[in-house]
Amino acid sequence: MPKYDYDLFTIGAGSGGVRASRFAAGFGARVAIAEERYLGGTCVNVGCIPKKLFSYAAHFHEDFEDAAAYGWRTGEPAFDWKTLLGHKDREIARLNGVYERLLKSSGVEIFRGRASVVDPHTVEMDGRRMTTQHILVATGGWPVKPVIPGADLAFTSNEAFHLDSLPRRVVVMGGGYIAVEFASIFNGLGVETTLVYRRERLLRTFDADLGRFLGEQMAAKGIRIRYGCNIAAIARNGLLHSTLTDGSVIESDGVMLATGRAPNVAGLGLERAGVELAANGAVVVDGRYQTSVPSIHAIGDVTDRVLLTPVALAEGMVVADRLFNAGRRGMSYENVATAIFSHPNVGTVGLSEEDARERGLDAVIYRSTFTPLKHTLTGRAEKSLMKLVVDRKSDQVLGVHMVGPEAGEIIQGFAVALNCNATKAQLDATIGIHPTLAEEFVTMREPVQS
Ligand SMILES: Cc1cc2nc3c(=O)[nH]c(=O)nc-3n(C[C@H](O)[C@H](O)[C@H](O)COP(=O)(O)OP(=O)(O)OC[C@H]3O[C@@H](n4cnc5c(N)ncnc54)[C@H](O)[C@@H]3O)c2cc1C
Repeated sequence: MPKYDYDLFTIGAGSGGVRASRFAAGFGARVAIAEERYLGGTCVNVGCIPKKLFSYAAHFHEDFEDAAAYGWRTGEPAFDWKTLLGHKDREIARLNGVYERLLKSSGVEIFRGRASVVDPHTVEMDGRRMTTQHILVATGGWPVKPVIPGADLAFTSNEAFHLDSLPRRVVVMGGGYIAVEFASIFNGLGVETTLVYRRERLLRTFDADLGRFLGEQMAAKGIRIRYGCNIAAIARNGLLHSTLTDGSVIESDGVMLATGRAPNVAGLGLERAGVELAANGAVVVDGRYQTSVPSIHAIGDVTDRVLLTPVALAEGMVVADRLFNAGRRGMSYENVATAIFSHPNVGTVGLSEEDARERGLDAVIYRSTFTPLKHTLTGRAEKSLMKLVVDRKSDQVLGVHMVGPEAGEIIQGFAVALNCNATKAQLDATIGIHPTLAEEFVTMREPVQS
């Protein structure tokens, strides 16, 4: 008779929780998973997937305009928000079903509802207590609104995927990736868009050239960017009135607060079980994702480290392997590539120029800005940026950064190169594919600084 009801009880069926549970069950463990909202978690329901579908929708606006320069005559384009929402919801429902089937076919028992931790080996749901050898906390994150008057009148990314109607004018507050992506989405869908950001440059955690350059490109597409101020208060007087910290007021039909996310730990009972949390609520884990309570592990956004789906997936596989298999699987946080689906896209991997210098490295910078071939006919004022950060001493490529169409697709391959410690000489020896944007990365010869 086993000592516990389960070998593993996972709380949260998002990217990390589902992957860890399926792998653990595959290794022969008796696994249960609890999900209070939606199978697939943030990424599938209110994150990566619907966001990218919206981003595609928004880009058609430009595509229709650009088509004319290539000889196409089309009727007056018209956009219907409800059609997009309906098709998006259908696809998300399909993916929810895929996740359910994957879990069930792996032998994972699914519980629908909110779970909390009672003690190191007990989980509670709807008054029912279940015992387990290991608990995995994979509860993700949740948008945080700033404490300002009228914040409840604004929506976050969670609601942005379900708005009843598209606002005619919107104010987006924030300068991180979710803010620039949604500002691009709204602008592309024909919404008059203002982005309000307290700093002087977007995407502050990335290479400085990326945020600066993206801001210029977004402004050229018609997004008004108000740097150096915040929204101090929001009031409804017919329309929404956002009063900025510089005293100016912006009228709009919608305000989106994209001001960050916090670990989802409220009411989870972790402190009661003795699990150490950081000041912002993040579950503190060691290199093996173990918390201060040995039978409780945590992965993904709830640990507030690298907040990306592929990272949560990889962490889930490492934990499952460690607890129920040979424990040989590891993962590296070096050279995690990422893309931002703003218009234009951003792709980045490795060290920023600033990071390299902070680490005391003598960085040589290669940078190129140019008009993509496509826009030589359209006349669109959109430029692309490609940048390499190279270590002078070893010639190793430390960082590859880009703003331009399909940047994510292009950067993925360079992430492999960086993981193989590619040198600039090896990039130079690589024959480019012509005519592409990507060839620029293997043809940049002159550094911009020496
Ligand atoms: C708008 C947006 C866009 C994004 N775009 C990208 C992108 O393009 N690429 C990328 O890599 N990442 C993107 N991300 C980040 C990505 O979604 C997260 O990094 C990823 O989902 C983290 O996975 P997770 O398993 O840690 O948590 P989640 O996917 O958030 O899953 C946590 C799950 O736990 C459930 N839960 C919480 N508490 C309980 C409880 N007590 N009981 C039961 N269930 C509970 C939640 O309902 C949720 O389903 C985006 C995020 C957002 C918000």
